[in-house]
Amino acid sequence: MSQLATPSERKMIYGGDWRPALDGATFESINPATSAVLGRVPNGGSDDTKAAIDAAAAAFPKWSRLPAAQRAIHLRRAADRLDAQREAIARTITLEEGKPLAESRNEMRLVVDSLHWYAEEARRAYGAWIPDPMPNRRLLTIREPVGVCGAIIPWNVPAAMIMRKAAPALAVGCTMVLKPAEQTPITALVVAEAFLQADLPPGVFNVVTGDPEPIGKSLLGDERVRKISFTGSTAVGRILLRGAAEHIKRVSMELGGNAPAILFEDCDLDKAVDNVAALKFLNAGQACITANRIYVQRSIHDRVAGKLAARAAALKVGDGTRDGVAMGPLIEEEALSKVAALVGDARERGASLLTGGARLVEGDLAKGTFYAPTVLTDMRGDMRMAKEEIFGPVATLYRFDTEEEVIAAANDVPYGLSAYVFTGSMSRAVRVGERLEVGMVGVNDIRIGAAEAPFGGIKQSGLGREGGREGMDEYLETKLLALGLELG
Ligand code: NAD
Repeated sequence: MSQLATPSERKMIYGGDWRPALDGATFESINPATSAVLGRVPNGGSDDTKAAIDAAAAAFPKWSRLPAAQRAIHLRRAADRLDAQREAIARTITLEEGKPLAESRNEMRLVVDSLHWYAEEARRAYGAWIPDPMPNRRLLTIREPVGVCGAIIPWNVPAAMIMRKAAPALAVGCTMVLKPAEQTPITALVVAEAFLQADLPPGVFNVVTGDPEPIGKSLLGDERVRKISFTGSTAVGRILLRGAAEHIKRVSMELGGNAPAILFEDCDLDKAVDNVAALKFLNAGQACITANRIYVQRSIHDRVAGKLAARAAALKVGDGTRDGVAMGPLIEEEALSKVAALVGDARERGASLLTGGARLVEGDLAKGTFYAPTVLTDMRGDMRMAKEEIFGPVATLYRFDTEEEVIAAANDVPYGLSAYVFTGSMSRAVRVGERLEVGMVGVNDIRIGAAEAPFGGIKQSGLGREGGREGMDEYLETKLLALGLELG
């Protein structure tokens, strides 16, 4: 029976079938907007993970040998199923994660698009015929799938994260065991169901829900798992990297961010404020690429601050399934406490509060974990928010005078995921863009993601890329065939 249609009791999926946890344990998935229980999900552990790896390893030889064009047929079929259920799955994302429906619908567009794009791109996983310095030999490279992959994802983009990994991996012939975040397991299960409905061979795509540590340890400790692809915090990324060292597994790491948005005085001010507000309050600030530090050149600071505060104060906050709601809740109580502590720290050290700055508890909002859209100014580099990821709807404004000064401040963090530059000068955009220590720079635009484009960070924001051709390379090995021939 469809997982979309079974509200209370759910199962995980491996080896082409729905399964309870081997010990029968379950846990609850909670709606952060209402605190309602959405359903119970298997609380899997090491044994369940081993069984899923068994299934993925058994499926690998046949799946990897299928021609890419035939794998593409399966993936397109899954994309069609997801497309047909787009609205229902978007609703599941909103119920489980909290973001407004419009944002969940956008996420579903990326899910479907990623599958279509990689289904095609894997048909172009070309090797090379290399000019050889020796006679009677020819050098040839072929691209081969890495093998069984373990994927661990966060809750904040719970459907698209799956496909950023599964689409390229499956398209090139890998098989996968995925562990979703414990806050959003149902979304993963309804997405996985599309693969079942598309008659994907059993074991090619598997989902184990449950305890992070034992599942992570089983994926890391099993030699058959040749790669770990992780998206989440830098702290957990570091634990997984250490574990991957044991068997020298390949890794991709999409980790935390602390993005600067820089507004120069020659920018189109209204457009810049529109962009920054859209980025900052997207998913209630719970995005790795959100603007964590907003640097505004002194001459335009007060106008930017005023406009941004007015925007923030006007945002309709509430249950993301309701019409007109522009911002949902934070994911859980712990997230609220962290944001409140960061705001408290900044205010104690002299930041000025322009709007927000508190939990929202009026009426129905008291049932969920809502924080007011907040704008702070007079921010300084010694405040916690300058160094730490806020992961909440708090816009923090720093004044600056010169290009040199703002580049130095922007780079003065261990992270390097994304950055944004707003300026009317293309020369300045290129000059600054080239010196920012990040993987992605948005120029007069915050839309930096697409199935076609490489996404990822440098420094402690990660290793590798998702999206684009680079995202496919993460799941391929290059093998050299040196052919000894008698060519005369
Ligand atoms: P998290 O690191 O706490 O959890 C991410 C995943 O890791 C979850 O599935 C969790 O269950 C699992 N996990 C936790 N401890 C584990 C362990 N010991 N072994 C194995 N798995 C373990 O992160 P989060 O709070 O879910 O997500 C927010 C973080 O993710 C932020 O730092 C954000 O910037 C980052 N993120 C990065 C990107 C990117 O593309 N760079 C995208 C989205 C989110």
